[in-house]
Amino acid sequence: MIGSGILKGMAVTARNFVGSYFEKDRLITVQYPEERSPLPENYRNFPFLIYDTDDAEAGLRCVACKICEKECPPQCIYIIKSDDKKPDYMGKPQFYPAVFDIDISVCMSCQICVEVCPFEAIKMDKVYELSRRERFDALLQRKSELSKSNTYYHSIHPIEAAEVDAKLAEAAAAAAAKKKAAATPPTASAAPTN
Ligand code: SF4
Ligand code: SF4
Repeated sequence: MIGSGILKGMAVTARNFVGSYFEKDRLITVQYPEERSPLPENYRNFPFLIYDTDDAEAGLRCVACKICEKECPPQCIYIIKSDDKKPDYMGKPQFYPAVFDIDISVCMSCQICVEVCPFEAIKMDKVYELSRRERFDALLQRKSELSKSNTYYHSIHPIEAAEVDAKLAEAAAAAAAKKKAAATPPTASAAPTN
């Protein structure tokens, strides 16, 4: 019948409209900004840098390798590598970013920086209220604003963060085993038997 699709659509709209007065699940609007809808696990917006422990500077995972800066399609990451080194999560001395800025007016939330980072140091945040009244410098997110704890990462992406932790723990255990094997003197070969 001509127009049956329209009638079915109108029926769904009417059912949701009337139902929204009785069932909270049918009410899809919220009183923003007092209320906020929960975001799904895989929601992403702009990147942030992860640090371990409670020290945002010493615990920063980023080693300033600049792979993300090179691979970012709109070139909105700006990094200056440090002159000195600090131990990374495996105790290996590494450079760190003296400067790490992201221009949020250019970032297109593609997540390529996350995918190319070999150190699990940069992940996608869920923060979306980042509008600014000023232009230029105000649109740059500095290292201090970008740095967030691994605990925060777990709070916004619990499944993904647990997988990353397991991967890092496995890598650290493998490195420790390799170091131990290298430090153990080789045993004398057994005497030949007759
Ligand atoms: S999400 Fe994409 S555009 Fe934004 S900083 Fe990462 S690579 Fe660049
Ligand atoms: S975030 Fe990752 S890819 Fe980018 S500079 Fe730091 S360690 Fe390298």
